[in-house]
Amino acid sequence: MVIIIKDKATEEQVGELMEWLHGFNVKTNLVTGIHSRIIGLIGDTTSIDIDAVQAREIVEAVRRVQEPYKNANRRFHPDDTVIEVGGKKIGGGTLSVIAGPCSVETEDRLMQTALAVKEAGADFLRGGAFKPRTSPYAFQGLGKEGIDLLIQARKETGLPIVTEIMDLSDLDLFADIDIVQVGARNMQNFTLLKALGRCDKPVLLKRGLSATLQELLMSAEYIMSEGNSKVILCERGIRTFEPETRNTLDISAVPLLRQKTHLPIVIDPSHATGVGSLVEPMAVCAVAAGADALEIEVHIDPKSAWSDGAQSLTPAQFTSAMKKIRAMERFCREELR
Ligand code: PEP
Ligand code: MN
Repeated sequence: MVIIIKDKATEEQVGELMEWLHGFNVKTNLVTGIHSRIIGLIGDTTSIDIDAVQAREIVEAVRRVQEPYKNANRRFHPDDTVIEVGGKKIGGGTLSVIAGPCSVETEDRLMQTALAVKEAGADFLRGGAFKPRTSPYAFQGLGKEGIDLLIQARKETGLPIVTEIMDLSDLDLFADIDIVQVGARNMQNFTLLKALGRCDKPVLLKRGLSATLQELLMSAEYIMSEGNSKVILCERGIRTFEPETRNTLDISAVPLLRQKTHLPIVIDPSHATGVGSLVEPMAVCAVAAGADALEIEVHIDPKSAWSDGAQSLTPAQFTSAMKKIRAMERFCREELR
């Protein structure tokens, strides 16, 4: 952190500011130039509130030179994090595919979809039991019954399961879930994030509708600072002015996050586009950009889906998309050799 001091500040005021900063366990270095004075901070500045510094009367400007996230930062953890769950890995050079319906609907539909995605080569089964819907009149999910059906589908297919938690009071229901998803709308539900930080369970954290990558990383930091380092980041499209797609896929998030963090990166081309025909090309693109995993919505009969039918692939479309996805994965791996 670098602090620029106002011209009129007295030596006593500057000394007092430095004293205050030392209380945060950092060292200060006062540089007096011809036209200005600057205090450079050395050490871990993550606990210093930049607004509190800016609010000081003698401070002209303040800038962070280091990111405010520590646990998620590649600078302090150069090697990629690989998360192992249910005999599968996310991160570390292999591409994982998470697939399944938006919502868990009926036993029959879930089982058919689960078997179909497994057959097509998916590594994980997804399905929402608690659904964050824009309308309170839309299908809200089966709740506990949905969780039980997912566990049954795992038994039949062997695929580890991924499902979304919306409310902390449901946490006990997730005890037997392999990966807990935090949806875009809950990315900054800090109470939920902290509680998940105290669990020993991988968390798939989705980027908020209009969240910056730094905000996403700060949310990951909430989980990690409580002790859970198994965080998987997911880009699922952000709000822009473009109405042709549900969101706009920020594909640059993959290489950018790769530089900034060691955490695995997932792309969700289904929510990113909202359009079934765009899912395959965006998925292939995500693999080329270096994503560690994909999360794709697949439904046995999208036109009758209880949620997100327009962006869901049929099993046949998913099977065909998987061929291109795996071909791109092989191509990238061979190119790197
Ligand atoms: C979902 O994955 O079903 C979902 C609701 O996604 P998002 O939080 O990205 O909208
Ligand atoms: Mn959905």
